[in-house]
Amino acid sequence: MLVNFLFKQSLNIFDDTIINHGRQANKPFPFSNGLLSIIIILGGHKGGLNKPKKKGEKYMIETVLDNIPFEINESQFLSELKLFEDSSEADEAIQLLKEACSVAKPKAVYIESFVDSRTEDTVIIDGVSFRSRLLSANTESVHRLFPYIATCGTEIEQWASNITDPLNAYYADMIMQLALKSAVNELVKHLTYKKLHGKLSYMNPGSLEDWPISEQKKLFSLFTDAIGVKLTDSFLMIPVKSSSGIYFNSDKKFVNCELCPRENCPSRRTAYKPHSR
Ligand code: SF4
Repeated sequence: MLVNFLFKQSLNIFDDTIINHGRQANKPFPFSNGLLSIIIILGGHKGGLNKPKKKGEKYMIETVLDNIPFEINESQFLSELKLFEDSSEADEAIQLLKEACSVAKPKAVYIESFVDSRTEDTVIIDGVSFRSRLLSANTESVHRLFPYIATCGTEIEQWASNITDPLNAYYADMIMQLALKSAVNELVKHLTYKKLHGKLSYMNPGSLEDWPISEQKKLFSLFTDAIGVKLTDSFLMIPVKSSSGIYFNSDKKFVNCELCPRENCPSRRTAYKPHSR
């Protein structure tokens, strides 16, 4: 049976001495001034949630970042939309941005996981077998991995679903993308500060042929429904502005975009290097 107890604690646990990342020593880490939640899952993954705990079964700790600040610089926002500040479209876009900021609750969740075993093209993480040659090769030298889900949040998606004007819907879509970006940035800050040091790499199921989108189902099986992201039968995440994958340390930083040939992708993080792996 699932033992799922949620407790919230203030982030004074981050009052450690900080020596990395250009922040001053002995200052609290500048996360949101809010809370994080920790959910303890008995049995390793959803497949085991309803089973009694067996000898040797592990507790997995799901950490939820659920009070992530969402503050967008208005001038920067208008510049991304290519709108002049004194235009009527800009007024409308800023009005939408203010509304969105008042409802948005970007969130992220992650689990500290361990590799059980691997072959050339599979990695078994906390009892779930992922099939990807690249995932196996890229995580060859690490045993600790961080599966994650990040999202713009159901609140802002609900707000955006009431917008019928096509131009405003486009602005709302951009704002949701920024909310997702806030969630991912906060997660990366958290992992970098608390868990991972050195080069941070990540992979996402579905972004490369080698790790198909159908593997989303396995990734989601590691999590509860703590941040409200659902997976459809076609492996689409709802809210659509969500992201899932695995973070890990590696000697050589890996970003999916290295092997993704998509041209003019606005989210590309590094150049296409088809022969790099
Ligand atoms: S180039 Fe774009 S689509 Fe391709 S992996 Fe990078 S972000 Fe994803």
